[in-house]
Amino acid sequence: MRKFSFVIVAGGSGSRMGGQRKQFLPLGGRSLWRWSADRAASLAGAGIGEIVLVLPRGEVLPQPWDENTSVPLRIAEGGLSRADSVLSGLLAASFEYVMVHDAARPFAGEALLRRLMEATSETVGAVPVLPVADALKRVDGKQVSTVDRDGLFITQTPQAFHRTSLMKVLRDCVSLVKDEAEAWLAAGMELCCVEGERLNFKVTWQDDLRMARALAEREESSQRTGLGYDVHRLVPDRPLILGGVRIEESPLGLLGHSDADLLAHAVADALLGAAGLPDIGNLFPASDPTYRGADSMELLREVVRRVTREGWRVSWVDAVIQAQVPRLNAFLPEMKKRLSAILNPNGQNCVNLKAKSAEGTGDEGRGASMTCWAAATLCRAYAEGPDNLSPHGMNKEENS
Ligand code: MG
Repeated sequence: MRKFSFVIVAGGSGSRMGGQRKQFLPLGGRSLWRWSADRAASLAGAGIGEIVLVLPRGEVLPQPWDENTSVPLRIAEGGLSRADSVLSGLLAASFEYVMVHDAARPFAGEALLRRLMEATSETVGAVPVLPVADALKRVDGKQVSTVDRDGLFITQTPQAFHRTSLMKVLRDCVSLVKDEAEAWLAAGMELCCVEGERLNFKVTWQDDLRMARALAEREESSQRTGLGYDVHRLVPDRPLILGGVRIEESPLGLLGHSDADLLAHAVADALLGAAGLPDIGNLFPASDPTYRGADSMELLREVVRRVTREGWRVSWVDAVIQAQVPRLNAFLPEMKKRLSAILNPNGQNCVNLKAKSAEGTGDEGRGASMTCWAAATLCRAYAEGPDNLSPHGMNKEENS
């Protein structure tokens, strides 16, 4: 089997976008460049032996690469022009063949990569192309003329070549080529076109990023649900605190190591469950004196911090409290308000609460305990990330 190095060119300096580098923007739970890297790694069995990531000079790997992945990742330092950056990547590569790919194209499909590998030989390079679908105009000031689109194709990446042949071609080329295929053709080499993919578009404009995020949302699990449950005994001489609200009227309160706010506990466990994190019993153990009499709403705040750190935001929480006494309905709006203030920094309500009597059954029905169930829905938080390609969304980035 012929082996390929997959070279991802992420060396753009973002100089025309006030230094912002789109290759590192968040897309789903990953950086933009990472989508191509993961795709390449998934083809380890089909001939991709390594990934070479060409980073801007002085940049370090922005997201760690799992060393257990079947395909190793090497880093190369980008140059001033695209050709220099690619050459640097080719030097760091070690296999006989290469695919050179723009970091800004996150959705190159597996089938496309396979087509390219098949079409490449020692003397023939392979590029994905697509027929131009739109009518074309040349606009020169006020002069507008029609360009015949017949026979015109757009070119995508990855582009596949014999590695040392491409190195020779790039060393000899004028440095301002737009892609490797241009240099390859200029050197009189043979090029084979394979069918590209419409979804393999390049994230260049602000709208491209929006489109990419909409697609990423579908590809990644962008929502998760968690379930939380808690029960505490109702005893005399304890305050009753639910959702941070102290219910003075109640002669009974909940027994526990902390303030025993079982609503806050159930909601916290629902959030942690959705984020795939350990429950509050693990995070704030009852054996730890720090949490004696702790304000559970502060514990909830810490839970939200942890969930946020995992790249999630709280979309919705629904909870039901089962209690025979006291009647809780009058206090629910204030509980909702306090929970929402912690769960959603935008202040928008994201909580629904219900109180149910136990119909006289069980411990709850005798007023000996209280129970709470909560369900939480989390969404990926990337939609609110630092995501502007440019202030006007019209500046095109250099492609080095
Ligand atoms: Mg509890």
